[in-house]
Amino acid sequence: MFELPPYRPPSEANSTLIRVTRGCPWNRCAFCGMYKTERFQIRDLEEIKRDIVTASKFPVSRTVFFGDSDNLVHPDIAEIAEFAAEKLNPERITSYARLRTSFSMSLKDLKRIRNSGLTRLHFGLESGDDETLEMIRKGISFREAVKGGKKAKKAEFEVSLYVLSGITDRWREHALNSAKAINEIAPDFVRLRTITVIPSTILWHRMKKGIYKPLDPVLRLKEVKLFIENIECETVLYSDHISNYLWRGSGAFYTGISGKLPDDRERMISELERAIKMAEELDRRGELVDSNMLAASGKIIL
Ligand code: SF4
Repeated sequence: MFELPPYRPPSEANSTLIRVTRGCPWNRCAFCGMYKTERFQIRDLEEIKRDIVTASKFPVSRTVFFGDSDNLVHPDIAEIAEFAAEKLNPERITSYARLRTSFSMSLKDLKRIRNSGLTRLHFGLESGDDETLEMIRKGISFREAVKGGKKAKKAEFEVSLYVLSGITDRWREHALNSAKAINEIAPDFVRLRTITVIPSTILWHRMKKGIYKPLDPVLRLKEVKLFIENIECETVLYSDHISNYLWRGSGAFYTGISGKLPDDRERMISELERAIKMAEELDRRGELVDSNMLAASGKIIL
């Protein structure tokens, strides 16, 4: 009945989905295949308003999510958020956005968008390590990402940052510098995703040529542990994605780590230590299964 964004965060599973832009204006990250076949487009304001009016006839949800990947670039985003707030009367409106865009915008413009009713931004930080950011072609440096995140916080958005685990064999630097970025931005939420190499992405081509390999699952858990040990700000960390799971045969023995920091740190570290022991044992026996293995055999689609 109206155009839907093809992707949304798991936390927006029950939200009314409104497509504000199509695709990604950057579309160059080495690990990402989300919008590879989509040409970036700013959707027409009147068309979006018509979608919002249609959605308002089916008031099934208390929250609204805007797709696709970077709606801060829409010149009418404030008007769209205001219209959605008026017609749908939601508890929150959230959107994907790029830290590069937040970094480039004025605080005044960000505040105007926040005051129009858009309340939460989901940003892909991926890493705080400059060398890793360059390797994955994120198009931003540690310093710019921190400035972009801090500016969004200053404009009073709730900030949700995605961090990509297992992306590099520089796992110690990746963990420590990502924790440093988190500490500086102090986001409301940190969301972990584990790299799963998607066919046709740049990483997939590098992997086929033998010049790239994701970090092995045991080191990934150690990386997550080091990352959590070094987060000093107050935040809530979620691993709300199947890519984080580890399996023995068809049963998942690790489904990711979640909790409030710093309060739950000890419990989270103990859970990770238990998972590391189990993963090491299964690895020795050749029984450890991760999302990359399942995706390669077509058992999961990400
Ligand atoms: S990860 Fe985000 S910014 Fe990067 S190409 Fe994919 S959608 Fe665009």
